[in-house]
Amino acid sequence: MIETNTSLKAFNTFSIDVNAQILFHFNNLKQIPELLDLVKTTRADNKPVLILGGGSNILFCEDFTGLVIKVDLSGVDITESADSYLLKVAAGENWHKLVADCIDKGINGLENLALIPGVVGAAPVQNIGAYGTEFKDFCESVEYLDLNSGALHCLSAKECLFAYRDSIFKTLKMQDALITRVTLKLTKDWQAQNQYGRLKNAAESAQKLSAKQIFTSVCQIRSEKLPDPAKLGNAGSFFKNPLVTAPQAEQLLALYPHMPHYPQPDGQVKLAAGWLIEQANLKGAHIGGAAVHQQQALVLINQNNACAADVIQLANLVRTTVKEKFNINLEHEVRFICAMGESNLTEAVNKCRN
Ligand SMILES: Cc1cc2nc3c(=O)[nH]c(=O)nc-3n(C[C@H](O)[C@H](O)[C@H](O)COP(=O)(O)OP(=O)(O)OC[C@H]3O[C@@H](n4cnc5c(N)ncnc54)[C@H](O)[C@@H]3O)c2cc1C
Repeated sequence: MIETNTSLKAFNTFSIDVNAQILFHFNNLKQIPELLDLVKTTRADNKPVLILGGGSNILFCEDFTGLVIKVDLSGVDITESADSYLLKVAAGENWHKLVADCIDKGINGLENLALIPGVVGAAPVQNIGAYGTEFKDFCESVEYLDLNSGALHCLSAKECLFAYRDSIFKTLKMQDALITRVTLKLTKDWQAQNQYGRLKNAAESAQKLSAKQIFTSVCQIRSEKLPDPAKLGNAGSFFKNPLVTAPQAEQLLALYPHMPHYPQPDGQVKLAAGWLIEQANLKGAHIGGAAVHQQQALVLINQNNACAADVIQLANLVRTTVKEKFNINLEHEVRFICAMGESNLTEAVNKCRN
């Protein structure tokens, strides 16, 4: 189905009201020839193309002048071997529903990733993660359609180059890759992962825990600490947790001994962006209808009919204040989408000023 000059408000969890010139609902692989034609004519007009899942990691900065492909492909195929389950899941399936269905079926492993909004096809893009596990821990392969050549390809997990909130799908050369399906391998030799964050306190020893208990705890903790986008627009963590060098971390720890810090295998130290924002006294700060969430400083919210410029200026205030106080550059996790395609906070701020 194709819509023209249509609002994207219902298609982004920030609830920013911008229009797309063309919106194509891609729900069947049989539509591939039609889709490729549409991409070709859009590009011939020098207009941009955007692949959209649930819109939960996106900030639309202004009306989108080109083609938005809303990926609604559905279908889950599960096969079982002696030691594992293999799940082939279409890109438009809801991520949390997949996790919940697996737990109901006694297929364990994804429980720490419960309640992450969005669809399965977006999960590899930023290698979603929570409570000590990441998408990459279960990924076998990712299939995609090259919107330029029309060819279907499959990448092994290794070829996806997964890293912290990163993968090959974020690189420029993969901007034409529309993920159609992912294959996940969930081993029957399951072990609880409850060493991270509040999960540590949520239950007793890992041996006694079931996947269902972890799933329930994760859902409870997340519902308590994160605003529900259906009630209060947001895109989850707005900034990534910054990585600093060990000497920089030591300098900061001398000044702030209670600063949360997580040494990484490569020698760098990961800091908690939320803590830095909170220490910069930004909880509750607001510009126009956008605000820093009172309970969760890492989350920017659409408190009162915010427009994109409100969120952009607030994000800039957070970034500059943290830089001044800690000399740390916060990088945004949320993808900035401007009229002509992907952009970034610096460009968006400059546009707001002009
Ligand atoms: C309340 C809340 C909590 C969150 N918690 C977490 C968390 O704990 N951990 C975490 O990692 N993230 C979290 N997020 C961020 C977000 O949910 C994830 O990044 C999610 O994977 C985005 O899915 P989506 O379908 O909404 O993608 P979208 O926002 O629609 O798209 C995100 C990016 O992926 C691309 N994309 C989408 N689908 C495809 C496809 N089929 N093929 C190619 N590219 C595609 C888009 O072009 C875009 O660049 C949270 C968000 C919210 C609102």
